[in-house]
Amino acid sequence: MPVFLKSPLLLALFVGLLLGCQPAAKEYRTTLFSFGTLIDISFWGVEKDKADSVIKEVEKDLQYMHYAWHAWQPGPMGRMNMLLQTTAPFSANPSVLGPIIKARELAIASDHLFNPAISELIGLWGFHSDDLPKGPPPAAEKIKALLAQKPRMDDISIENVRMKSRNPHVKLDLGGVAKGYGIEQIMTLLKNHGISNAIVNTGGDLKAIGQHGKRPWRVGIRDPRKKQAVLATLDVKDGESVFTSGDYERFYEYEGRRYHHIIDPRTGYPAQGTRSVTLIHPDAGTADAAATALFVAGPKDWRRIARRMGIRAVMLVDDTGAIHITPEMQARVNFITPPGNLRVSKIN
Ligand code: ADP
Ligand code: MG
Repeated sequence: MPVFLKSPLLLALFVGLLLGCQPAAKEYRTTLFSFGTLIDISFWGVEKDKADSVIKEVEKDLQYMHYAWHAWQPGPMGRMNMLLQTTAPFSANPSVLGPIIKARELAIASDHLFNPAISELIGLWGFHSDDLPKGPPPAAEKIKALLAQKPRMDDISIENVRMKSRNPHVKLDLGGVAKGYGIEQIMTLLKNHGISNAIVNTGGDLKAIGQHGKRPWRVGIRDPRKKQAVLATLDVKDGESVFTSGDYERFYEYEGRRYHHIIDPRTGYPAQGTRSVTLIHPDAGTADAAATALFVAGPKDWRRIARRMGIRAVMLVDDTGAIHITPEMQARVNFITPPGNLRVSKIN
């Protein structure tokens, strides 16, 4: 043994160097800002330099998707909306084709409760702005006039890259599916870089692959009425997405009433009866759109829409605070405080 290694500290350092020159990588965490929100990304077992370089690519992709799919700022989606309005056939920009095809499928599966063709209505409610709208709500006649135009995703026909709308009032807002569809793309990018343990989480909407070391990735489900409070925790399995739609993030109050950003395409008003819906599905885009659709469906009809969309694990908090839950979800969540009013019901 060289003489300088007689010191225990130096010996430890030497052994460390022999065992591997890289520092032992465990959890790598970073936060990005995109899609108008903070995005937390964690990897397990990825060396820092590699993680940093992959994150740079993730960031570029997120910024591009955000730009391309933006519902009200100029860009490919804005151009798309102008072309749909003409009712003439056109070739769609490839950057928006994928999410539109997916959104169309999901809208039909949801019996059009997820209806991203109602951009005019969402704009009328003032949600096409980074700042929250202030009351009063829009005039009833204006809402009625937009409803009468009946824009739906099946007004759009798609053949390869050719697309057209038979209804000039179809205007797309992919806000209810874009985050999920985007997270799915990011997960593919991570896998292509050989990353197999990761979680991408945008304020509770997330997808995980692999594990957090020896245990699964663990997430919290927010209480829709208590700020920063967690209602339950959930261990996310490899390849699962967990999405929540709620009335507590983008809303305003006017004369004591809450007006939030999930619009019921049947009434033209913010969907009633629900505070939040959380569900699990492998595909993040499907999970995102389904959470929006089940929120619109409400405490009476959510099971029908879940069945149509192939969703099994669901938890819905209604406007009385009662929790409706499927056995599949009940088996997965750990409530922080046992809920007072829990209604377990099967989907079929
Ligand atoms: P978040 O974006 O807060 O996670 P959602 O996924 O439920 O919530 O998406 C809400 C967004 O979806 C709204 O801001 C709006 O852009 C759009 N949207 C609102 N109502 C509907 C609807 N019925 N169908 C499809 N998209 C909708
Ligand atoms: Mg959604």
